[in-house]
Amino acid sequence: MKTALFAGSFNPFTRGHLRIVERALAIADKVIVAIGFNIVKVTEKSREDFLSDLDKRKKEIEKAVDRFNKPFNEPRVVIESYSGLTADFAKKIHADFLVRGIRNVSDFEYERNLADINLKILGIDTVLFCAEPEYGYLSSSAVRELKANGFDTSSLLP
Ligand code: ADP
Repeated sequence: MKTALFAGSFNPFTRGHLRIVERALAIADKVIVAIGFNIVKVTEKSREDFLSDLDKRKKEIEKAVDRFNKPFNEPRVVIESYSGLTADFAKKIHADFLVRGIRNVSDFEYERNLADINLKILGIDTVLFCAEPEYGYLSSSAVRELKANGFDTSSLLP
């Protein structure tokens, strides 16, 4: 039984992320999608807002991956959240490898560095999926920017 950990900010979870989950299911029995957050940045004042936003994001991802889980008794895709090092969380949940996506050269450079550190220093390997051309331009930050300016972003989201 192989468990993959797909960690990210997922703010928001896009169709590009959904495809990575789907493709990861071809090489893992279980995929844990984990929303990473920085506990240091969560002040007492913003705690409530933060928790309700995290809960909302979790529910959105749960809804998006529902079709992968429906045919099975045990869910194959599980949503979690964590703070701290991704590799520490990976060990805690007994993940066999990490999964990430790359859209372009700058993603590749960033992800390769991260993957090297995770393997050499923290002892966990990474599988990188190349984004399909139709998702290569899609980023959470672009979705946030478009939404903030009144555009309908529903075609970019699951
Ligand atoms: P982070 O802040 O950790 O980079 P993101 O939520 O932005 O988290 O992305 C999580 C992972 O998904 C990253 O590896 C990123 O490169 C990948 N990713 C994001 N958008 C896409 C996409 N459209 N296609 C493929 N991979 C993607």
